[in-house]
Amino acid sequence: HILFIMLVYINGKFVPEEQATVSIFDHGFLYGDGVFEGIRAYNGRVFRLKEHVDRLFDSAKALDLDPGITRAEMAEIIKETLRQNNLKDAYIRPIITRGVGTMGLDPRHCANPSIICAASAWGAMYGDLYETGLTAVTVCVRRNPPDTLPPNIKSLNYLNNILGKIEANYKGGDEAIFLDRTGKLAEGSGDNIYLIKDGVLYTPPTINNLKGITRLVLLDICAKIGIRYEICELGLFDLYTADEVMVTGTAAEICAITKIDGRTIGTGVPGPVYKKLLASFQTETQNSGDAY
Ligand code: PMP
Repeated sequence: HILFIMLVYINGKFVPEEQATVSIFDHGFLYGDGVFEGIRAYNGRVFRLKEHVDRLFDSAKALDLDPGITRAEMAEIIKETLRQNNLKDAYIRPIITRGVGTMGLDPRHCANPSIICAASAWGAMYGDLYETGLTAVTVCVRRNPPDTLPPNIKSLNYLNNILGKIEANYKGGDEAIFLDRTGKLAEGSGDNIYLIKDGVLYTPPTINNLKGITRLVLLDICAKIGIRYEICELGLFDLYTADEVMVTGTAAEICAITKIDGRTIGTGVPGPVYKKLLASFQTETQNSGDAY
């Protein structure tokens, strides 16, 4: 068999994956001080490249982290990573960390950020679960409030998400659903959440969750194919009494949730609105994006 060795971009050059290492004094490692993106390429084109690079740089800006390269340069690094690895359908992970510093947390001691980009072939995240729908559980741990570590910063600190995921694993859920501190619906551990009631799609505002790029794709699709949507605060009642529930994310793409906290959602199978949105989403991913 052919062994595929990934080439990873790290601080100006491409190196084989086993050489793609950072110092233990990199503050991304020591403190989670850094930002990242998850991007997909479909059919030789990067899906929503500009949006992802913009969010990466906005997250960096929110952490007062100067990447030291331009957005255009970052976009080119992402494309070159795909070319170097001969990938057509892939998942891409750019990372910007504060860089190497001292043991203390003060970012002023870090001279240069670390710029990293890895990519690998990756298909559907949930496999057969796209047919049956996911089993989800609401978790006790709440989404961290925006006045602490804002969920809109896609930072290397994903511990809040991981705590929810651990809880979901113990409770037998494929995905965790987070509520915020006041019991309002926030998001999944790595995706935004929606419900359908009487033909209308509802989703929470992006205050206590990440401004998902797939979320905007989905809302655009709704507008285009004539599905009315409302952005509003939602709670457990809305979730349990919904006709359909679904999540979106770059990794998850679009996936139905058919069971929450042991309760059957709607008819218990991925519903008609989900199927319509999925079809349009697949058309969009296959037919748009930046060629490389
Ligand atoms: N919320 C969280 C916490 C995420 O990690 C992700 C994945 N980036 C999303 C939502 C979905 O965002 P996007 O559609 O931009 O991938």
